[in-house]
Amino acid sequence: MSPAADANAPKLVDPFARTIDYLRVSVTDRCDFRCVYCMSEHMTFLPKKDLLTLEELDRLCSLFVSQGVKKLRITGGEPLVRRDVMWFFERMGRHLDSGALKELTLTTNGSQLRRFAQQLADIGVRRVNVSLDTIDEKKFAAVTRWGRLAQVLDGLDAAQEAGLAVKINTVALKGTNDDELHKLVEWCGARGYDLTFIEVMPMGDLGEEEDRLDQYLSLKDVRCELETQWGLTDVPFRTGGPARYTQCEETGRKIGFITPLTHNFCESCNRVRLTCTGTLYMCLGQEDAVDLRAALRNNPEKDEAIVDAIHRAIAKKPKGHDFDYSRQQVGGQMSRHMSHTGG
Ligand code: SAM
Ligand code: SF4
Repeated sequence: MSPAADANAPKLVDPFARTIDYLRVSVTDRCDFRCVYCMSEHMTFLPKKDLLTLEELDRLCSLFVSQGVKKLRITGGEPLVRRDVMWFFERMGRHLDSGALKELTLTTNGSQLRRFAQQLADIGVRRVNVSLDTIDEKKFAAVTRWGRLAQVLDGLDAAQEAGLAVKINTVALKGTNDDELHKLVEWCGARGYDLTFIEVMPMGDLGEEEDRLDQYLSLKDVRCELETQWGLTDVPFRTGGPARYTQCEETGRKIGFITPLTHNFCESCNRVRLTCTGTLYMCLGQEDAVDLRAALRNNPEKDEAIVDAIHRAIAKKPKGHDFDYSRQQVGGQMSRHMSHTGG
């Protein structure tokens, strides 16, 4: 093989021959909302010393980029509530400028977009995923506990004004938005947003007031319901993520379905997740993890040691997850919260 071909070969390849070129990074476990399926109302957050500093995040993410990561998604918690997070976005923006990184994006609850959308666009962010489970003000207040719908809608306007493409992420919740599915499709169509439905996953202890099985709504049922009113055609479009997309004839927008529970997407997984404490999870639904914070802090000068730790971690990526709600019990339950791992 010629040296040039070698240089282009994927650097991060797991034991199942999957190339890993997508890193999701949680930059904080904190949030200005308390969504009922994500957090308990009285969360204990991590002490600051446990979090990677923004400089550490820059160093680590830059090393991932040097190892072939092409897509970076910043998440949390709510990424835009981390102090000075724009500094970090700017640092990642330099990898877009160099061409090493193809996409820098984020998943946000939208509450801070009025403040940051333009800056994000200036840095090179092209699209954002905004999580929105309902467009009913009262339900929104109930689902998010602390959120205000008007603020998120204003954030969405700001995103559009800044030229950011928006995709809405909606967790399908029995008894909450199952009567709003058609309205959401129509609303997203009218505003020019793609829409992705997500099945609720068994992440984290929610406190005594919430029960996973009460929340779970199968996306098979969601799709059946949608097809009573909308023409949905399967399309091969992929974003490198686990969503399967359809094209909605009437709105012209894409509608995606993320179905970790009714459809296993692991065979095409190209991603790993970094928590805000520097733990790298090779799979959202497994406990296999490597502590990259220790590698960072023990090797302030030696990047090779960290690159080595990244490669050792990828070599441990498991084949898939074990989530299962069958037989009326929650199988494969994960003790960590989505906000810690980064949804
Ligand atoms: N705060 C940001 C937001 O809400 O978009 C980013 C972090 S949030 C943890 C990322 C995504 O995870 C959101 O779309 C949220 O709806 C989803 N999520 C949180 N907990 C979940 C769960 N238990 N099952 C499925 N999706 C979940
Ligand atoms: Fe916050 Fe996002 Fe979790 Fe809601 S889903 S509590 S907005 S981190």
